Amino acid sequence: MTARVLVVDDILSNVKLLEAKLTAEYFDVVTAFNGLECLAKVAEAAPDIVLLDVMMPGMDGFEVCRRIKADPKTAHVPVVMVTALDQPSDRVAGLEAGADDFLTKPVDDAALFARVRSLVRLKMMTDELRMRENTGQGMGLIDPAEAMTDSTHSGRILVIEDRAESAAWFSSALEPMHEVTSVDTFEEAMVRVKGGDPDLVVVSLGMRRFDGLRLCSQLRSLPEGRNVPILVVVSDGDHRKLTQALEMGVNDYLTRPVDKNELVARVRTQLRKKRYADRLRHNVQLSLEMAITDQLTGLHNRRYMSRHLDNLVETAKKSGKPIAFVIMDIDYFKAVNDTYGHDIGDEVLKEFAARIAANVRGIDLACRYGGEEFVVVMPDTDVAFAIQVSERLRHSIETTPFPISRDPKTLKLTISIGIAGSEGESDSANALLHRADQALYRAKRTGRNKVVADAA
Ligand code: GH3
Ligand code: MG
Ligand code: MG
Repeated sequence: MTARVLVVDDILSNVKLLEAKLTAEYFDVVTAFNGLECLAKVAEAAPDIVLLDVMMPGMDGFEVCRRIKADPKTAHVPVVMVTALDQPSDRVAGLEAGADDFLTKPVDDAALFARVRSLVRLKMMTDELRMRENTGQGMGLIDPAEAMTDSTHSGRILVIEDRAESAAWFSSALEPMHEVTSVDTFEEAMVRVKGGDPDLVVVSLGMRRFDGLRLCSQLRSLPEGRNVPILVVVSDGDHRKLTQALEMGVNDYLTRPVDKNELVARVRTQLRKKRYADRLRHNVQLSLEMAITDQLTGLHNRRYMSRHLDNLVETAKKSGKPIAFVIMDIDYFKAVNDTYGHDIGDEVLKEFAARIAANVRGIDLACRYGGEEFVVVMPDTDVAFAIQVSERLRHSIETTPFPISRDPKTLKLTISIGIAGSEGESDSANALLHRADQALYRAKRTGRNKVVADAA
């Protein structure tokens, strides 16, 4: 994993030591010697993680961290405070400033690499989403996800611990703010996470009746558990377990004896990250939908149809079933725009699309093919049936005027339809579309308001 690490410390020898250790592990190292320099480097070198000294002259590490986390452009970069202080209250101050983790000087190598690797891996997952979201934004499809800076939400928390006293302690520590459920068996834990309920899972690694690490690995392999933050609780000094847990992809950890404020702060941080990742995922999903949907009518767009057509035709060929292409076009639509304006033209298009959608089956693919041209691909349908469906739609358009939001309040319109069918021969999607288009052209030329099928 080549990741870029920004090392920040006001003492040259500290910087050199960390730089040497990290370079030996093939990390790409960037350095800074004070808070302002650090902020500049975070912006220009785009590090994957920052190792930040707390005590520095001028701006201290807490303030630097606060600023990194307050800037929407850098809030996602993990920050590890490297500190000589090791009191829970110092850690809480750091967490409140937005720090992701702590390392105590002198820095232990195993702990250093485990933390850095784990945080970088978690960041890379979000980076992938951030990149896709950026593309969606760049295409004008979606608004950006709100920055990862809010911190006042509560969540549903699942505590997995089979020692009643400890479970009760976690509940009472978290309950004022969150909705807490405790479970004490492996099976119940799996069921809860499968149900998609918890926003965060706390797993004790000191349980009597089953192995918490094995549970973490099983949770991660569930589709519903892949994105749930896991916070493990490990005995102080059990480095082996902690390293294993971090390698497995748990998001954060606490060591016993657990400090209540630290628990609360770490839970808050993880919930905030999860909300941010959820928003990103949601936006990516949305931009995918928008990329294949026509904005005016909500039908599939031409791009989607082109991609999907070949699949449909191939499937039809393989199964030996017929497939029909239907192209529809409003007659004299230009006159609607010219007489009533483009807005009314748009209203007509929306209504037409709605009527098409209401008249086709779920397996039919309805798309807006061009300005006022619509295509419906009907799998498992022969030409005779396609004619029947088309004739019904044509007739209902002719006899049911379109409502519009301006006088005369309704418009009488007609449509022309061209149909081509394949019976499983060596037809390509393009050839079928072309033949349907030719049929439409004949319908227009021979008087409009009619259905013409290609005589293939
Ligand atoms: P024909 O009976 O031969 O189909 O005549 P027509 O006037 O319907 O056909 P033509 O293709 O000449 O005109 C189509 C018009 O559709 C031209 C264009 O301005 C209009 N149009 C295309 N896209 C949109 C749109 O998104 N909204 C609106 N309001 N009009 C559109
Ligand atoms: Mg037309
Ligand atoms: Mg046209």
